[in-house]
Amino acid sequence: MKITSIEVKQYVKELDPPFKAAWDPKPRKKFASTLVYVHTDEGITGVGSGDLMTGFEGHEHLFIGQDPFAIERHSQVLDNIDFHYGRCWPLDIALWDLIGKATGQPVYKLLGAKSNKINAYASTGEIVTPDVRAERAKQFVEDGYKAMKIRFHHEDVRDDISVVEEVRKAVGDQLDIMVDANQGWKMPWDTERTWDLKQAVQVARELEKLNVYWLEEPLPAHDFKNMAKLREMTNIRIAGGEMNRRWPDFREMTNQGSLDVYQPDVALAGGITKVKKIADLVQSSGHMFSPHTWSNGIGLLANLHLSVAISDCPYIEFPYDPPVWTPDRRDYVLKEFIQPNENGEFIMSDKPGLGFELDEEALRQYEVGSAYFGEKE
Ligand SMILES: [Mg+2]
Repeated sequence: MKITSIEVKQYVKELDPPFKAAWDPKPRKKFASTLVYVHTDEGITGVGSGDLMTGFEGHEHLFIGQDPFAIERHSQVLDNIDFHYGRCWPLDIALWDLIGKATGQPVYKLLGAKSNKINAYASTGEIVTPDVRAERAKQFVEDGYKAMKIRFHHEDVRDDISVVEEVRKAVGDQLDIMVDANQGWKMPWDTERTWDLKQAVQVARELEKLNVYWLEEPLPAHDFKNMAKLREMTNIRIAGGEMNRRWPDFREMTNQGSLDVYQPDVALAGGITKVKKIADLVQSSGHMFSPHTWSNGIGLLANLHLSVAISDCPYIEFPYDPPVWTPDRRDYVLKEFIQPNENGEFIMSDKPGLGFELDEEALRQYEVGSAYFGEKE
């Protein structure tokens, strides 16, 4: 089998009302999805998504004419492109989708199939008052979720802690609660100062009292030493690594004992191929792997396949904060939106590849640009 052409297409959906993500000072009025299609001489096409494919143009000849099954070779080339130009990991996702379709197997089976299911945690995205957050948390319990994540970013961190207190009061022990401080990295226009170790310790000690499951990104993503110190000073699990996308970062973090929960996202930070290796490394070092999944439904699915295949963590992130962040806003290119069942869990299907179908009408409606590389049909 040979790769004959690659297409990269952009789709945009307007968001009205806008989504005010806690980690982004600018409200989001649009949601863009970039899809990469890998076509072959056997008529099978793999599809990936979850990032912008920045830096791909000019490198297409490194893939066209190649055997799609040579995934380790392609992953190395993508890593080289990542170093020099930009993140093109959705191509790795498309290749796994293609390999699954070519072999008639779902990707999670090709990766190990340790399980075929995993709990979703409802990962919220906006800053709301304690009352509103507590009401929404009660709804999560009714919807079958066993865990949720709360974002920090009030001006005064004590207001963030009040939100967790109110949620704990409302749901008791019915939900595990994660907290994301979002101090690991910033949007290009964000120049606010980030937390230092002392502030992270103060917050962690408050959250200990509320039996929080993990505290995510309390410090900048490369502050490996202080994360390790924080980890020793608190009983809460420390999570992070969603945007650390080079292998030596994870080697350093496991060497220094920086984190309890490692969260590289296959769509943003290494593709399925590299993140599987990172997951093996962190789990064999005694830590958890539970990927960040905040891109779109295809990116979520790619992380999901890898997680059920190998992860020891009971939870995977499901970005969900109705009414502002919902599957119809995120998965508008898909025929069926990606969501957990009434018990708050994902159970894998036996459909080949990643197992999604595109909504052709939506693709026509939302397409705003495309680039075609390779032999014309
Ligand atoms: Mg996060």
